Amino acid sequence: MNNNNLALKAFLSGPVMPLSRVPDPVFSSGAMGDGIAIDPLNDCLYAPCAGVVMHVARTRHAVTLKADNGAELLLHLGLDTVELQGEGFDALVQEGTRITEGQPLLRFDLDKVARGSKSLITVLILTNGEGFQLRPLTTTCVDVGAPLLQLSRTGSAPATAEPAGSGGESRGHVRVALHGGLHARPAALLRKSAQAFSSRAELRFAGRSASVDSLVGIMGLGVGEQDEVEVICRGADSEAALHALLETLATAGAEPTPQPVTPLPVAAPRGAEEPGVLAGVCASPGLASGPLVRLGALHLPDDRGDSQPDEQHRALDQALERVRGDVRATLQQAARQGHADEEAIFTAHLALLEDPGLLDAADLLIDQRVSAAHAWHRAVQTHCGILQSLGNPLLAERANDLRDLEKRVLRVLLGNDGEQAIAAGSLVAAQEITPSDLGPLVRAGVAGLCMAEGGATSHVAILARAKGLPCLVALGPQVLELDEGRVLVLDASNGRLEYAPSAERIAQVAMQREQREQARQQQRARARQAAVTRDGRHIEVGANVANPEEAAEAFAAGADGVGLLRTEFLFLDRQQAPNEEEQQHAYQGVLDAMGESRVIIRTIDVGGDKHLAYLPLPAEENPALGLRGIRLGQALPQLLDQQLRALLRVAPIRRCRVLLPMVSEVDELIAIRQRLDQLAHELGIEERPELGVMIEVPSAALLADQLAEHADFLSIGTNDLSQYTLAMDRCHAGLAARIDALHPALLRLIAQTCAGAARHGRWVGVCGALASEALATPVLIGLGVQELSVSPGLVGEIKARVRELNAEDCRQRSQELLALGSARAVRDACARFWPHA
Ligand code: PEP
Ligand code: MG
Repeated sequence: MNNNNLALKAFLSGPVMPLSRVPDPVFSSGAMGDGIAIDPLNDCLYAPCAGVVMHVARTRHAVTLKADNGAELLLHLGLDTVELQGEGFDALVQEGTRITEGQPLLRFDLDKVARGSKSLITVLILTNGEGFQLRPLTTTCVDVGAPLLQLSRTGSAPATAEPAGSGGESRGHVRVALHGGLHARPAALLRKSAQAFSSRAELRFAGRSASVDSLVGIMGLGVGEQDEVEVICRGADSEAALHALLETLATAGAEPTPQPVTPLPVAAPRGAEEPGVLAGVCASPGLASGPLVRLGALHLPDDRGDSQPDEQHRALDQALERVRGDVRATLQQAARQGHADEEAIFTAHLALLEDPGLLDAADLLIDQRVSAAHAWHRAVQTHCGILQSLGNPLLAERANDLRDLEKRVLRVLLGNDGEQAIAAGSLVAAQEITPSDLGPLVRAGVAGLCMAEGGATSHVAILARAKGLPCLVALGPQVLELDEGRVLVLDASNGRLEYAPSAERIAQVAMQREQREQARQQQRARARQAAVTRDGRHIEVGANVANPEEAAEAFAAGADGVGLLRTEFLFLDRQQAPNEEEQQHAYQGVLDAMGESRVIIRTIDVGGDKHLAYLPLPAEENPALGLRGIRLGQALPQLLDQQLRALLRVAPIRRCRVLLPMVSEVDELIAIRQRLDQLAHELGIEERPELGVMIEVPSAALLADQLAEHADFLSIGTNDLSQYTLAMDRCHAGLAARIDALHPALLRLIAQTCAGAARHGRWVGVCGALASEALATPVLIGLGVQELSVSPGLVGEIKARVRELNAEDCRQRSQELLALGSARAVRDACARFWPHA
């Protein structure tokens, strides 16, 4: 029988509490080991599992058992009950007795013990925690015999005196520098670091331990910033794994500060109540008014407890896989659009969906004939309870992410994928709105969000800010009692929800919103006009697109051209590469969507983080530094030839510019130019498209002068240029806040690129995400950039920004920025030099 994993049953009836809430520091600090507590409502202590009685206290207030998997469990009845000297206790077993699960161990006089001791709270402690792990299965009230904890062997239990395995064991202590301690994203980061090694890693804190594989387990330790933890790695590469994990834990700044640059106002204290106003905390600023709509909750059908485990396991697995697929798709889209915040959030969600702690808890319940929906719901609720009981607001807010995933999986399990129909312009109220609720709400065009709970650092708050949707959190339960359809004013910037606004107030809000909308419309109305600085410098503002539909959108939004068509998206998510005709058709579609404007088409940039299942490429030790971009074209010349032929066949060819990704030396460019000539010759084509190179590797920026001699133009990819200059993985959720393209080192490379290009009369564009940032527009113009390729929705705004500026002033002040020491300093200086509404 496999007894490595045991479900420990409730040893008493009563409310369950985490050890941290037991009013006795010896237990609550975890000094004696991990465990759980119950405040008893009955008068007999029962065995949580089968085993042998190791010890019965002389004063009969405590019993220690050895479970069949070697775990040693202390059951300590009440606090300070040793003082009673056995009065009121009746031991029902003796040392050495073999016991069965649920066997009575100790009867006690509830009144006598309650009167004579500090508390009846009874703890179960795992006293030989090494090699074992405890996971709560419930945090509410239990009856004797109910599933309480999962006790698992982590593979190296010394209780059975097994050797530590083929590899060694390495241990180390470190003070956690990750911002906010070990909550979801840092925990995901730690797990990612551990996955690079074969060793198993465990984290110890305050006498408790968690496998690094389990996000929920790590978060459940409640480790705060500057807490000291122990890391234990076991396996062949334990030394290297330990080193990597200690380094991850000791590196600050892994958690992006989830706030925009301006501090968000905090609501007035609840005591100072204003009539007709609910006070909340601003999670995303803005002003809106509209009728209130409540977001529907999900209702679980009754569970009769007679489900077929096999069927239910399958149903849960399928639902989880479906949601993982959806999350992966969202992640890819966020990556494509350069939304680092969203990427970080959905990476953590993906890790939670694979969390062994959560999945084991649900599986265990399914084994007990609980339906998949109820098992998933209870597993998530238990883990939310743990996160909320730790007294750390950041961790408590991560419970919102778990609840989001709960809902998503339940919707699939219950066949309830439909979205609630919500009218545009509504203010949506809910207990808590989760990240996956947000997409449909944004699509419906809601005006604002009001949550009874939630926090300003929650993931949904980050997303609401990104979407520009006003949002208040922590409004309290009253927000859910307001009548649906009532028109409210949401003044999120000032933390106020006005639930009885006068007609004048509603009209005033409508007017203010209209003024803002007018400003936006003015930008849109002028979006088709050229962007010229106050002193007459023309800046071309194009758009980054992935297909003809996006190109049409960009054209309608006023884009002067396509500054970057990422052709690899045509090659992704399919069984074989598109043939030459299909490619030509797609490229022609983009040209046709752009009127008379020019289109820059980049040759395929796969490898790195973008894989093609049908391309026979060897696995890379370090894909970002391997065969990607133009290097792949050299490794698979037929693939590149086919694409170049498709590009040569678009018409008119003068509107097509070809861009080469990841160029790092001049020979690459010369070889492709020769190949392009040869292919054009074979096809009988006289005209040639312009040929440019991306500047996204430091060597290319440093060689801009030499490259410009052979290229028609240069386009700076600030996303990769940041990655390779700062040596920070652009997909690294933990480094997202530090991989900032306004770093002065990048500004120097951009300046050098522009200077090199100018020597040969070539122009320079920027197509990385920095081009879409209005704060960066003056710097880029000042350093000599002539074209900006931005997200289609931002064309109007960036053009308006260009028109506010004086290019000569930008040039002078940008020189000062080159001398600064950090991206933060550059950002502060930009905000001072060129204030922006
Ligand atoms: C870049 O690296 O900045 C860029 C535009 O290319 P991509 O984001 O597609 O790698
Ligand atoms: Mg790039």
